[in-house]
Amino acid sequence: MKFQFLYIIKKIHKLFIDLCSKNRFLCEVLIVNPRKKRQDKVNQPIIKASIERLLSYDKLPYPIAVEIETYNKCNGDCDFCPINKNLDPREHKYMKEELFYSIIAQLKEIGFKGYLSEFSNNEPLLDSRIFEFSKHIKQELPLATKIIFTNGLLLNLDKFLNLVDNVDYFLIDHYYEGELKLRENIAQIARYCLEHPELKSKVKIQTINKHAIRNNRGGDSSNRRFVYNLKSCCMYPFSQFIIRPTGEISLCCNDPKGRYTMGDLSKEKIADIWWGEKYKKIREEILISRANVEICKNCDNFGVLDTDRYISNYKIGKNWNDIEKLLQ
Ligand code: SF4
Repeated sequence: MKFQFLYIIKKIHKLFIDLCSKNRFLCEVLIVNPRKKRQDKVNQPIIKASIERLLSYDKLPYPIAVEIETYNKCNGDCDFCPINKNLDPREHKYMKEELFYSIIAQLKEIGFKGYLSEFSNNEPLLDSRIFEFSKHIKQELPLATKIIFTNGLLLNLDKFLNLVDNVDYFLIDHYYEGELKLRENIAQIARYCLEHPELKSKVKIQTINKHAIRNNRGGDSSNRRFVYNLKSCCMYPFSQFIIRPTGEISLCCNDPKGRYTMGDLSKEKIADIWWGEKYKKIREEILISRANVEICKNCDNFGVLDTDRYISNYKIGKNWNDIEKLLQ
């Protein structure tokens, strides 16, 4: 009797999930938003404590994560992304080399030892300078943790091998639709990593459905309609620094169109921007309520909760069994 009951419950649950996965609005209202509500309750005190810890220093510490877009376009077409290749309203911009080198010099000067990626709301392999830039970052910023994120569309084994020694972590977001299969270029890299197990703890191939419902990117995500307004504060204005190709600084990685500009590294120093008036004002406003900041009020992202665990969130090295199965 008990087993029959459990069987029926399981069946109903599966039917419910199937129904929601076919209808994005049901998915938002019945799955995503209730989950956000639960997370909000749990995360609120964690974020509060994390921000209080950062603010307890004489000065807010330098950002934990810096993202540099050396070119501001992506070649992907994921549903959830407001700047996918079919929607992106941004004008093409490449970062000038002298600006790139001056930013790295500044990071060196401040002894930057956080997380650094040549990626924010773009596909880094669209910029052919990534190989020399990554080499330069490795030489100049030995204390930083270097991460590359790519959708892998332009990746092949040669490019992978050219880049992998210059970074600490290599994340390949393999976007797919329909049946989950690895594209041949990614399968080749996966096989190489399995044959060289020392790479398994620094490389992650993450499979993501292009049509998934994900964070709503400051309310801009094109496949999100209903929002659950979070009560928690957000960690990003206290921990993240997003550099656009012009040197302008966006509020966070969920401000892909650069609706907010916190400063400009072609004219100012990192310290002047990070401890400057614009950031100060936004931080004060969001600490009271995210409703005080236009882009944040409809955003359902919490930021990285615990800055000490920035990279462990990605669970690198944990899904190789799944990747092996996909290769069979
Ligand atoms: S609430 Fe959203 S838009 Fe605002 S800083 Fe956080 S991630 Fe960015």
